[in-house]
Amino acid sequence: MQDIEKNLKLIDEKIRATAESCGRRREDILLCAVSKTRTPEEINKAIDAGVTDIGENKVQEIMDKYESVKPVKWHMIGHLQTNKVKYIIDKVVMIHSVDSFKLASEINKRAGAKGITMDILLQVNSAQEESKFGISLEETESLINEILEKCENIRIRGLMCVAPKADDPQDIKVYFSQVKEQYDKFSKIGHPRLDFKYLSMGMSHDFPVAIEAGSNLVRVGSAIFGERDYSKQK
Ligand SMILES: *Cc1c(COP(=O)(O)O)cnc(C)c1O
Repeated sequence: MQDIEKNLKLIDEKIRATAESCGRRREDILLCAVSKTRTPEEINKAIDAGVTDIGENKVQEIMDKYESVKPVKWHMIGHLQTNKVKYIIDKVVMIHSVDSFKLASEINKRAGAKGITMDILLQVNSAQEESKFGISLEETESLINEILEKCENIRIRGLMCVAPKADDPQDIKVYFSQVKEQYDKFSKIGHPRLDFKYLSMGMSHDFPVAIEAGSNLVRVGSAIFGERDYSKQK
């Protein structure tokens, strides 16, 4: 049995210590607790212990748990198929995984129908790994321009990435730093719907390195809830 409250305390301390070691503050970094395969009871425990933001990587899991979880901010962090946007458009505060104009247009359309503006992050993949989702750093600018031009119901809030597996944390840091460089570049552009605030990088095994490289939103799952048993995921 995992002690969710204790795990959260340790992670909170680690975030604080890492942030302060690079002259930043704990409050500047958002912890998104990733609850895939976890039950509403476990998620509610995390919320009782102070978690404000929950991340899921599957539409189905958001829909299954939405009603039984206490009021919280939901984030869609996984690959999103266009035909499923409609199910979550009014349930999540931000979609981290936008990696095509096709997906952005669908989000734009569904947000418009609900009369809302959707916050999104563009998922980048600076290592160009075939197996992972995300656009290359070079494609970022043209996708941003196309979304700003054609998707009036979308606000682009930043970038997200998943680091490749690497034995040397220094390699991961180089990766994160490249994404941070792009993030800084677009942060300087003034546009009402290009309002960079979130650099979403870092998971259970690499969030301290990500914070050192400039992340301000970490997505932590197993370090809070324990190792996942995928046989429980639908
Ligand atoms: C599962 C997942 C996480 C969290 O992973 P942990 O290793 O359990 O911390 C973060 N981001 C995405 C996109 C995920 O799918």
